[in-house]
Amino acid sequence: MSGTITLTMIKPDAWREGHGGAILDRIIKAGFIVRAMKLVHLTPGQAGQFYAVHKGKPFYESLVKYMSSGPIVAAILEKDNSVADFRKFIGATNPAQAAEGTIRRQFGKSLESNAVHGSDSDENAVIESNFFFNRTEWV
Ligand code: UDP
Ligand code: MG
Repeated sequence: MSGTITLTMIKPDAWREGHGGAILDRIIKAGFIVRAMKLVHLTPGQAGQFYAVHKGKPFYESLVKYMSSGPIVAAILEKDNSVADFRKFIGATNPAQAAEGTIRRQFGKSLESNAVHGSDSDENAVIESNFFFNRTEWV
């Protein structure tokens, strides 16, 4: 492996509304290598587990409902400095505050509905990758 990994998700409404191809195209052209990818419809229980770190926060219940509202694309991406570079590439959590040219600025609709996920640390990238993929599913 020539870089570090990060875990992304294309969130349900971004996928449902047909932005998945454009988002993946931008990700790949930005130099992130797709090591694993799948389309998956999380149950509320699975979405709650993925976002367990936010349990108890005011937005948690709505986030779980949102993230289990339809299929998402989950993918492991590889690049050097991938976690920080990907978070910069997607922009701030709130699309209204995301920099011009970022994925969330282009495709996000609200603080909750912000188009994509990106891991926040190397440690969480591994935990999140293991949430979605077996090591045998990587290429
Ligand atoms: N979120 C929300 N309201 C908030 C903060 C976050 O609905 O006040 C949602 C949003 O979809 C975000 C996710 O919860 O992407 C996880 O929040 P986090 O603070 O980890 O932001 P991220 O790491 O995704 O930028
Ligand atoms: Mg986060």
